[in-house]
Amino acid sequence: MKSADIRELAGGLGFELAGVAPALPSGDRARYQRWAEAGFAGEMRYLTDGRAELRNDPRSLLASARSVICVGKLYNAPWPYSTRFHDEERAWISRYAWGGDYHRLMRRGLERMGASLAARLGPELEWRACVDTAPLLERSYARQAGLGWIGKNTCLINQQSGSWFFLGELLVSVEIEPDSPPPDRCGTCRRCIDACPTAAIVPEPEGGYAIVSRRCISYFTIELRGAVPEQMRPGIGRHIFGCDICQDVCPWNGSATVTAEPAFQPLHAAPPLARLAEIGEEEFRGLFRESPVSRARYAGFLRNVAVAMGNSGRGEFRGALGKLAQSGDAVVAEHAQWALGRLEGAGPAQGTNMKSCGL
Ligand code: SF4
Ligand code: SF4
Repeated sequence: MKSADIRELAGGLGFELAGVAPALPSGDRARYQRWAEAGFAGEMRYLTDGRAELRNDPRSLLASARSVICVGKLYNAPWPYSTRFHDEERAWISRYAWGGDYHRLMRRGLERMGASLAARLGPELEWRACVDTAPLLERSYARQAGLGWIGKNTCLINQQSGSWFFLGELLVSVEIEPDSPPPDRCGTCRRCIDACPTAAIVPEPEGGYAIVSRRCISYFTIELRGAVPEQMRPGIGRHIFGCDICQDVCPWNGSATVTAEPAFQPLHAAPPLARLAEIGEEEFRGLFRESPVSRARYAGFLRNVAVAMGNSGRGEFRGALGKLAQSGDAVVAEHAQWALGRLEGAGPAQGTNMKSCGL
C-alpha cells in the first residue's frame, strides 16, 4: 500500500491532510526531554510523568505498529484574527475552541479509516486511533509524514493550508511507504516571536525554538489551576481561553483555507465579557459541554474573565468585578480585586453593546 492510497482514503473521510511515517522512535524525543527537564511544561504533569516515557516510541501504544498514519483536519472559520479584532468589550477564545469537541470527530474518522483498512488488508490488521489524549509526539510524526514543518511558534505549518488544523494518528501493523518531511520555510521570519505578548517563544541551545509554558497565555488560561502570576496578567489581554497570536501573525496563515465542517462553525467566537461574568456554574456546563472551553473549569473561566475585564480599560466592568470579588472561590475573588485595582482611573461606565453576540 502506498501513501497516495492513504491520502485518497483520508480525503474521503474528511481529512484534508494525510501522510505516513514509520512507527519508530521519534528523532525529537531528546528535544522533548530537554524541554520537560527545563521545567517548560509548568504544572502539566501529564507531559512529564510516566506517560512521558510512552511518548518515545509508538510501539508502546500498539506493540505491532509498523506505520503511523498522520491526518490533519482544518478548523479555520471565516472570522478575523485576534490581532485584527479590536473590541475591548469582548473576550477572545482560541480559534480551535469555537466549535464542538474535535476529539470525537477526529476519533470517529480515524476509526472509520482503521475499519476500512482492515476490510482491504484483512482482519489480522491491528490498528489504534490516537487523538491528542494519547502520549505521542504527534507534531514530530506529522512532520515526518510530510504534513508540514514545525515553525518557530512550534505549530505544524502546511505550505498550502497554514496551521489551523487538528492532528490525529492511526497506528497500523503494516508497513506503508513513508512520506518525507518538507523543508522548514520559516526562514528569517520572526513575526511570532516578536508578537508574543509574554515573550514565551525562546530559542533552544541546540537550535530551534520552544514555548515556555510558564509564560504562555494558552497555558495560563487553559491548563493552570490556581492563581495566574500577577506580573503575567497584563500580557493576557482579553484572552479567556487560549491564545492565537503567534498563529495569527504567521504569513503562512495569511490566506488559510476555511473549513466547511459543520461541527467547527464558530459558536463561541468573541463573546461579550459582561455576559460571561454573570454565567452561573450550571449554565457554564451547559454552554460549553461540547466545547474544549470546558477544560478551563468554571472557576478558571471566571478567573480568566476577571483578568480580561481588568485589562479592558473599561470602567463599566467595575460592577461585575465587584460581584466576582465576593466570589466564594478565593482565586476568582483575588483576580477580581486585582482587576478592580487595574481599572482604577478608567473612564465612566458606558452602555455595553451586546447586539451582535451569540451568547
Ligand atoms: S500562544 Fe500566545 S502567549 Fe503562547 S507563545 Fe503563542 S503568542 Fe505567545
Ligand atoms: S510567524 Fe514566521 S517564524 Fe513564526 S512560525 Fe510563522 S513563518 Fe515561522
